[in-house]
Amino acid sequence: MDSIYWVISRHCNQRCPHCYNDSAPGAPGLVPEQASRCIANLPDADDVAVDRIIISGGEVLAWPDLLFHALAGLYDRYRDRTKLMVQTNGDLLDAVVLDRLLAHHVCRIDVSSMDRYHPRTTLDRREHLTRLLESRGMVEAGSIARTAGREIEAGRRLTYAFWGATEDLWIGALWPRGRARRLGLTKARPEDDFCARWSGAKHFLDYRGEGCEVNVQLADVYPCCPMTCRPIGDLLTEPLIAMLDRCAEHPVYRALNEGRPEKMGEYLGISESEGIRRTRELGNQCLWCDEFFTRHAAGLLHQSGVTARGDVDLAPLR
Ligand code: SF4
Ligand code: SF4
Repeated sequence: MDSIYWVISRHCNQRCPHCYNDSAPGAPGLVPEQASRCIANLPDADDVAVDRIIISGGEVLAWPDLLFHALAGLYDRYRDRTKLMVQTNGDLLDAVVLDRLLAHHVCRIDVSSMDRYHPRTTLDRREHLTRLLESRGMVEAGSIARTAGREIEAGRRLTYAFWGATEDLWIGALWPRGRARRLGLTKARPEDDFCARWSGAKHFLDYRGEGCEVNVQLADVYPCCPMTCRPIGDLLTEPLIAMLDRCAEHPVYRALNEGRPEKMGEYLGISESEGIRRTRELGNQCLWCDEFFTRHAAGLLHQSGVTARGDVDLAPLR
């Protein structure tokens, strides 16, 4: 498994207009005991190697007790077999916090707020943060999507990166989710094949091969970062590998695993060309995916428990 992207909390010190998962001050997060239960349901390292776990939010540094509890639990579970990475907006990163992150075996820090949606005060910290990160021997890498493969070659060097939702990146059009969708900021079109791109569902089932990443929002597991309208399972109650094996038995998830959501209805007699037509009419792949699940396969959706997605969940169809 290449990567587990884990949003441990949607609490954030900011409320950016483009935020795909509705992070904001006071938004829900796991409590430490729940984080421990999730970690216990991650893959057994003797069976499935996990290259990296990226902890994100919300703003993870706004809830340090939870973050450091999760990092300690992950290191306890995986030791040096899995790289631990943190994604932050950088606002609360200072020398004390950085040293604590490094002491908790974090090997990469992504400051993912360098775009026009974040406030000037955040962007203005870049130079200061660069000096701080480099003072601890960290070296610059590219965005996680561009360097994911090469990280492996880079071995155990401590790295950092600054990036954001800019036009040149795979997220430039913004996923049609959360505030990005409600505020009309997403420019996602039918030709934006999010499903087959980095962070999409392609290869999410291939945990023994290459290109497998899953997205965990609190304890809800999704095949992709844009998020299907409901999760595929609850990490509080089911091991991740069992969840993926369960999905692999169903043609809907096998189509998503190919990065071809237009094919997801074939087993019901909804042809790929019909999926392509609805994708064009609705505007992009992810809205077709929402329509398919809600209209044709609601029984496949997992009713999440204590970590329900709130207003992100089953966004009304337009
Ligand atoms: S985009 Fe990042 S910084 Fe902005 S509200 Fe969402 S999680 Fe917070
Ligand atoms: S089409 Fe569905 S599975 Fe694919 S990236 Fe979009 S929401 Fe995820």
